[in-house]
Parts: sequence; structure tokens; C-alpha cells
Amino acid sequence: ILFSLLLSLTVFTFAAWANEDVPKQKFDYQSDVTRLRKIVINSLYSHRDVFLRELISNANDALEKLRLTSLTDKQVLSGAEHLNISIKAIPDKDGFGQLVITDTGIGMTPEELTKNLGTLAKSGTSEFLAKAENSDATGTGNLIGAFGLGFYSSFLVADHVRVASIAAKSEKNPNPQQYMFSSSADESSFEIYPDPRGNVLGRGTEITLFLKPDALEYLSTEKLEELIHKHSSFASTFPIYLLTQK
Ligand code: ADP
Ligand code: MG
Repeated sequence: ILFSLLLSLTVFTFAAWANEDVPKQKFDYQSDVTRLRKIVINSLYSHRDVFLRELISNANDALEKLRLTSLTDKQVLSGAEHLNISIKAIPDKDGFGQLVITDTGIGMTPEELTKNLGTLAKSGTSEFLAKAENSDATGTGNLIGAFGLGFYSSFLVADHVRVASIAAKSEKNPNPQQYMFSSSADESSFEIYPDPRGNVLGRGTEITLFLKPDALEYLSTEKLEELIHKHSSFASTFPIYLLTQK
């Protein structure tokens, strides 16, 4: 299965970056992912708040999967003690900033990072895509409520996204390793490589959004609190910590 998956993702190459000395595997997005990303990037500006709802709901799903799996396999709980979500705003002095959303959920293996974030597996998204390509921005905006955009909504507010993940320990995955998925808004490919920091997460997923210069409002505590309350009260089965720097 994995082999055919890699084939369907077409070309990959190895490249070593000067500053991070790890081999990077480069994959081209499937064409429908590229189409979806274009719509997201170009026509949904006024709906970009939804990115946080999507990322929190993914974190929540991952924690719920972990909780369910742990009922029959206790070892999945090793690596990180608590089940939670944290959201950290990191402003930087040069007028940029990062928003980091971390969960201690089920996590993803490198194969899952490639498949789940590099292909459009969900039927809802394909339907969204077909309809959105035939509507104007307002029509597309209305479609978001109906279908949700998922992970790709990250690119509404970020021009670069990094996802570090380490899958829960299990019989199938006895020796979990932390891997990184890295992608820019304006590229048709993404990279997968071992996280140069090692297994620092213990378990789960960390999404780092390198915010667009016009999206720095998402570093503000008030704005984040507002969005968390607005979108996430429905699904806050697990604690959400908001960490901000003054
Ligand atoms: P959906 O949530 O509807 O499946 P998304 O685009 O939001 O679609 O996410 C795609 C897939 O990526 C998810 O189904 C899941 O397998 C994986 N994924 C996304 N975020 C996480 C996360 N925080 N932890 C584990 N898996 C994740
Ligand atoms: Mg989702």
C-alpha cells in the first residue's frame, strides 16, 4: 500500500539543506490539492478566521483517537502524559510571527504525514473543490460552512507551514520517530524529513504557522481567545492552553 502511495505521489528527490543536515524527501502535491490550495489562497480572505477552528478540530480528533485506542492498547499513552492542546503565539522583532498549535494526540508516521497532508482523501473536500471552482468569492465563502476546508486552511494565514509529528507507540510502531512536513503557500510540492530536533514532542503533532505579514492579528491574545471561544466550545473535550508572549 505504501509503495503504491509513493508512486501516486510522483517524483521525489533527496536534498540536503545547508543549515539542517538531514535528507529531505520532496513530493509533488496531487493536482487536486494544488487546485484546492489556489482557491484557499486566492479567494477566501474574509473567511480566514476558520483556520483555527479547523486546526483545533484536527487536534481534538487526534486526541479522541488516542483516547479510544488506549482503551485496548495502553502503550499508546507513553511519550506524553497529558491529553491536551496548546496554542502559542510567538511574535518576532522583524514584524513576522509564528503561531504554534500542538496536541498530544495519536500523531502521524512519516507515511501518514505524506498521505494525510499531501492528498485529498476526504470526499467532502472534493465536493467543495468542484463547487468552489464555479463560484465567486462569496459563494466559496458560503461553501466553507457546509464542507470545511481542513488542514489547507492553514494557508489562509500562513505562507509557510511546518508540521512535526510523532505517532503513538504501538505494536505496529514500536520505535516512533518524529518527522516533519514542510510546505510553502506558493509551491506545488512539500517536503518530508526527520525532525532535526529529534523526538522532542514525545507524542502528537505540532503545527507551526509562519504568519503572513498581514495576518499578525492572530498573535493577539484577545483575538485568539475570541476565536477559541467562538469556534471550539463545541468540541473542547480536552483542555486548550493559550500561551502568549508579552
Ligand atoms: P479531515 O479532518 O476532514 O479528515 P483535514 O484536512 O482537516 O481533513 O485533515 C486531513 C487528515 O490529516 C486528517 O484526517 C488526519 O488523518 C490528519 N491530521 C490532521 N491534523 C492532525 C493532527 N493534529 N494529528 C493527527 N492527524 C492529523
Ligand atoms: Mg479536519
